[in-house]
Amino acid sequence: MAEFHQAEAKVESIVCPYCSEPKNSYWARENRFTAVKCSGCGLVYVNPRPKLSLINEAVKTGVHSDVDHGRTAISRRIGTKVTLYKKIIAHMFSDVWEKPRRISWLDVGAGYGELIEAVSALATPGSKIEGLEPMKPKADNARRRGLSIREDYLSAVREKYDFLSLINVFSHIPNFRDFLKDVKNVLNTNGEIFIETGNAGDLNNRRDVPTELDLPDHLVFAGEKHIIGYLTEVGFSIIKVKKMRKDGIISFFKSIIKKLLGRQIVLGIPYTSPFRSLLIRAKLQSV
Ligand SMILES: [Zn+2]
Repeated sequence: MAEFHQAEAKVESIVCPYCSEPKNSYWARENRFTAVKCSGCGLVYVNPRPKLSLINEAVKTGVHSDVDHGRTAISRRIGTKVTLYKKIIAHMFSDVWEKPRRISWLDVGAGYGELIEAVSALATPGSKIEGLEPMKPKADNARRRGLSIREDYLSAVREKYDFLSLINVFSHIPNFRDFLKDVKNVLNTNGEIFIETGNAGDLNNRRDVPTELDLPDHLVFAGEKHIIGYLTEVGFSIIKVKKMRKDGIISFFKSIIKKLLGRQIVLGIPYTSPFRSLLIRAKLQSV
C-alpha cells in the first residue's frame, strides 16, 4: 500500500493538452505508462503522466529513472542522419538556398548536432547556425566537434533568429502552446519554424507505429491537424507539409534486430504502415 502511494505521488492525471477534453480511450502501454487517445480530437498522450518536476529533470539528464530495463535517451551521433537531413532541408527550403544571403538558424533539441551540420552545409558562408541541447552529454559531444551548441532552454534565449527547427522534439514537450510563446519570442519578423514529428495522433491503432513509443520520454503524439492547429492559432501560416515513410526495407531489418534484442517493436510488412514522419514548414505572419 505504501508503495502504491509513492507511485501515485509521481504522476498526475490530465485532460487533453490540445482540446482540454477530459474523455479518452486506452491506446497503448509501455514502460508501465499508458498512452490514451482523446475522444474529442484524437491526440494521443501519456495519462497519467509524470509530474512536471520529474519531466524537466529527465530532459536535463537524458535519463528517465522511471523507465525500466536500463535504457536511456543518451545514444550517439549518427552520420547518416546528416545526409538525410541535408536532403530534407535542401528540398523543404529550396527557395532559401537559391538566393545567397546570410541567415540565422536555431535548432532546438539539437542532440549531437546532425541538423546543424546539414544546415551549415547548405547555408551561405557567414550564416549563424546554432543549437540548444539541454542534455549535457550530447551538447558536450557536439561542442567537441566544433558545433555551436548551448546547454540551455529556449526560454533563456535572448537573440533572434530567421529560422527555428524542432526535430523530433514535439513529443517531449508537455505544453506545446506555452512552448510556442517562447518560439515566437526568438523569431524575427516573418521568421519560420520547421517541425519534424511522427503522426501517431492520426492513427487509431498502436500497432500501426513501427517503432517503440518511448513512454514517458515521449508524452504527446500529434497528428497533422494538431500541429497545423497549434501553429495557425498563434499566427503562423503553413508553407509546406511533407510526409515521409519510415517503414522501408532498411527500417524493417533494423526492427528485426531490435526485436531480437527484446525491444517492444511491432514488426510490419514494409511499405504498408500508415505511420509517417510529418515535416512542416510555417512562417510567422507579421501583424
Ligand atoms: Zn483533444
